Amino acid sequence: MRMKEDDYYICENNKKLRINKIIKRKSKTGYISEKTVYTSENCKNCTYKSNCIKRYSKKPLEERVKNIETSKLFNNLRKENLERIISDEGCMLRMNRSIQAEGSFAQIKQDMGFRRYLSKGNDNVLSESVLLAMTHNINKLHNKIQSNRTGTHLFGLKKEA
Ligand code: SF4
Repeated sequence: MRMKEDDYYICENNKKLRINKIIKRKSKTGYISEKTVYTSENCKNCTYKSNCIKRYSKKPLEERVKNIETSKLFNNLRKENLERIISDEGCMLRMNRSIQAEGSFAQIKQDMGFRRYLSKGNDNVLSESVLLAMTHNINKLHNKIQSNRTGTHLFGLKKEA
């Protein structure tokens, strides 16, 4: 199915699915979600029908039409997120995240030889983690001072010429 600007979907059989109704549902936590139901204009004699209409119903397949239920709010948020993720800033932050977060685990485990906690109990393990983080940060600061990179916390994206 392809979504069109004019707020309808086009199916494999080139039929339009238009808004039929709006459903509101309340979850166990009290959140009210709104779903828009799009219904096909005509599904008669469609050769794709057995693959297209899957949901169980007592009605015979010949009498059924395709419905799509979707949340416009969710779709809009997902679109906005995708735009953020693939923007220049999003790409730079993702690259830095993979270098900094994953790199820190690798350095702590491999370079510092940290394989397991020496203490037991939540408080002790937390203290050990804080000490590890402090050591890691001091190492990082030392390396930055040595390579004249203080004052920067993100690597820039390298653009291809
Ligand atoms: S069953 Fe209906 S919605 Fe599905 S492809 Fe056929 S005409 Fe389109």
